[in-house]
Order: sequence, then structure tokens, then C-alpha cells
Amino acid sequence: MSDPLWFDPALCLIGGQWTPPASGETLPLINPSDGSTLAQIARGGSADIDAAVRAADAALADDWGRMPAFERGRILTRLGRLVLDRVDDLAALEATDVGKPLTQARADAVALARYCEFYGGAADKVMGETIPYLDGYTVYTLREPHGVTGHIVPWNYPMQIIGRSVGAALTMGNACVLKPAEEACLTALAFAHLAQEAGLPAGALNVVPGLGAEAGAALTAHPGIHHISFTGSVATGSLVQAAAARNVVPVTLELGGKSPQLVFDDADLDAALPFLVNAGCQNAGQTCSASSRILVQRGVYDEVRTRMAAAYADLTVGPAPEDLRLGPLISDRQKTIVEGFLAKGADLTIAAQGVIVDHAPATGAYVRPTLFTDVPPDHPLARDEIFGPVQVLIPFDTEEEAVEIANSTDYGLVASIWTANGARQMRLAKRLRAGQVFINNYGAGGGVELPFGGIGKSGHGREKGFEALYGFSQLKTVAALHG
Ligand code: NAD
Repeated sequence: MSDPLWFDPALCLIGGQWTPPASGETLPLINPSDGSTLAQIARGGSADIDAAVRAADAALADDWGRMPAFERGRILTRLGRLVLDRVDDLAALEATDVGKPLTQARADAVALARYCEFYGGAADKVMGETIPYLDGYTVYTLREPHGVTGHIVPWNYPMQIIGRSVGAALTMGNACVLKPAEEACLTALAFAHLAQEAGLPAGALNVVPGLGAEAGAALTAHPGIHHISFTGSVATGSLVQAAAARNVVPVTLELGGKSPQLVFDDADLDAALPFLVNAGCQNAGQTCSASSRILVQRGVYDEVRTRMAAAYADLTVGPAPEDLRLGPLISDRQKTIVEGFLAKGADLTIAAQGVIVDHAPATGAYVRPTLFTDVPPDHPLARDEIFGPVQVLIPFDTEEEAVEIANSTDYGLVASIWTANGARQMRLAKRLRAGQVFINNYGAGGGVELPFGGIGKSGHGREKGFEALYGFSQLKTVAALHG
């Protein structure tokens, strides 16, 4: 493995140049495994965002804007190769920065490479159509980039979210301004270095780290931005949408969820069990598509509770490099939020908790994964997004009741159905309010190819798969009257 920080993390990338922020100020990046300061990152602000937007605009007027689709695809494919070459370095960076177990961080780096490969291969396969029209006309459609796209990325899966949003936007020929999260931005900077190495022209990708209220707000308010992709909290997403509305700019919002898994009496429990637990504990529960509600039919409720409780008792939590089942949360702030939810559960029954290893530093942001049982569907722990390793078990009697509970939150990101009954699988796939429904699995291994996005407070717009390429482009209709 090479030097984990093979670049200067205190710089922004603007117009192909790595430059200090105009303020000259930096922000500390905290290692959540032990609370130490990992690095200083740039405290970018409105002047840097303005320079980045101008650089992106200039790239569109230059080589990048004229580049044939297949050449953009080649650059992305090369970038995917470079990501794979550095997969261990990227995993080490992400593990330290986010507090992810190394295995998870490595999977994220591989997913980033897959996005680059998938979109690299797709670049010259997005086509318009010809439309039969009146006599004497030829009508066709063109798929064109929006122009300058803004990308605001959270701290939980930086590599995967950059892959699905920046990867798709570049594929369609947009020029990007990326604002990574202030809590974790090392892999965003590493990715930008690799993009330069892959031959991405100056200005096609600009990166301005900084605080949400400063660099983030400046990006969403900038009149030179033509599309915004945001992943994060509902509260911030709503601010982003309001800022975009002032400039009449389209927005993709991916805001999290309270995703249920429905386990019926006829389910294959051996197959279901690992998914039921892992979908709640992966990344210490800090996953927008985490499954935090497990709805179980009464006939198997006791068995599911007993088996999940046993799995929880085996969960170990510790420093990210030790690669246990869970690392720390991202920050003390997030730990306080999760502990607040655990306190709200004081009136509930805990079925089981995992264990924080003895030697975990007291300065790390660790919480015990917790499984609550017999939780009323209207309890805050069954309705609100916790963003920590907390799951609730909810019993139900009938299919109708299961659907009603599943659809009763403000969110609608992912749902899964565990049943051997094919008719029920088809019925519920239609009735569940979610952007993705899984049958006898959960998450389908990440699925770079699978369109992803929410309903309700989970957001709107779709990323991943080909659908993202339509989202990061606009359709122009050309009608030629030639007689
Ligand atoms: P957040 O929404 O505040 O931050 C996400 C991104 O938005 C970061 O890059 C941040 O700098 C930026 N941002 C913040 N304020 C902004 C503003 N005014 N204008 C533009 N950009 C802004 O999320 P958070 O504070 O990091 O986490 C709080 C909660 O959000 C979590 O507890 C969790 O529920 C949720 N969350 C969801 C996801 C997800 O994947 N859906 C990811 C992270 C956090």
C-alpha cells in the first residue's frame, strides 16, 4: 500500500489546478475510531464555488464540451481501472475517514470502479429517437447535458455516491462541481486525482470541500448551476430544493428512509436471517437504504426474534482498521443523535445488543447495536430515521396489516418481502410504497445497474443504472420541415 495520503488534502480542485481556498482556512477532519485529527481540509466558500462554476462552464465551451461520447466513455473506463488499481489505498482512506470496517470500505471502492465501468460503457449508447409526424417533417430527439451540475455528497458512502452521481453526470457530458461532506472527504479528493490521471480535461470535475452552510449553500444558490444532485438529510434537502427553485433548476434528492422488511410465516428464515440483521447494521446503520423495521408475521415472530437476538449478541463493534462487524459512527454528534433515540426507547423491550470491544478508545464514536422487540408501529423508533445500528421488530397478523404498517411512515426508499407465495410477492411489490422492492433478498448487492431513489420524504429523481443518464441529461426535440 502506498502512502495513504498521496495528495494534499487541504486543497480544492478548480479548473484542473489544486489550489488553497480563497479564505486560506482549513477544517479538521476527525478520525471517528479514536477522535484524533486525521487531516486538515480546505474550508471552501462562495469565492471558490464561483471559481469552480466558471471553470466548469469554461470546460463545456472547450474540449470537454466537444468530446465525442465514446471518448468520454474511455476516460471513465480508464478511471475505473485506476480505482481498481488503488482499491486498497482507497479502502484504507475511507475506513479511516468514515470509520467503516475495511471490508465494507473495500466493497465501496469496488462499487466506485463498477460505476465508472458501467457508465464508461454506456456513454455512447444513450440515444434519442425519431418520431413519426406530419407529412414533410423529420422529427428526432437529442439527449444533451444540463451543463454545469452540482453534487452535494454526504459522509456515509462518499465513494459510492460520487460514483453514481458524478460518474453518470460526466458520462452525459456535464461539467461537475462536487461539494463533499466536511466529515469525510478524502476519497472525493483521491477520486479527483485519479480522474486527472485518467485524462479528464481541466474543469470537467471541480471539487470544493467545506461546510454545508458555506460551500454547500453557495453551490445550490449559484445561478451558473444547471442541475443539483443532493444526498443527505430531509431538512437540508428541503433547503437545497428551495435554493434550486429560486434559479428554476432541476434537483435530484436522495434523503434516506425507514425501510421495512416483511417476513411472512412461509419465509425461508435461513435465507432471510443474514439479510434481516445486516441490512440494519451495515455501515453501523448509517445507510439511507438501511432496513430499520422488521415486520414479522405472528407464526414465526418468536423464532425470528430469538434468532435475530442471537445474531445481535454476536455483533462486535470496534476501530475501523480491525474490520469487525461494525465500526464507530461518523462523529460524536451522530452518536448523540443515536443515543437520543435509544433514550426514546426506554419504554420498549430490548431483545439484544451487540458488544463494543474493551479496547475501543473512549474517544471514538461507538454505540452498541440494539434490537427492540414488540414495537408499536407509531412509536418514534418505528417511524423516524435513526441513522445508527438500531432495528425494531413489529409483529403483524395479516398481509393487509403488514402493508398498512409498511406504508405508514413518511419515507419510501426500499422494502423487501420474504415469502414463498408467488402471488403475494407480485401483489406486494405493487402495493409497497418504495423506490425499490426486493423479493426474498435485500439490496441485491448494491446494484450499480438498478435505478434507485425514493418516494415521499425519501426524495425524488432516480440515480444508478441507465435511468441516471436520463436524469443527468435533457431531451431536445428537433422538427425539420423539408417538404
Ligand atoms: P446533511 O444533510 O446536513 O449533509 C449532507 C451534505 O449536505 C453535506 O455535504 C453537507 O455539507 C451538505 N449541506 C449541509 N447543509 C447544507 C446547506 N444548507 N446547503 C447545501 N448543502 C448543505 O446531513 P448530516 O448533517 O451530515 O447528517 C444528519 C442526518 O442526515 C443524519 O442523521 C441522517 O439522518 C441524514 N443523512 C442521510 C444520508 C443519506 O444517505 N440519505 C446521508 C447522510 C446523512
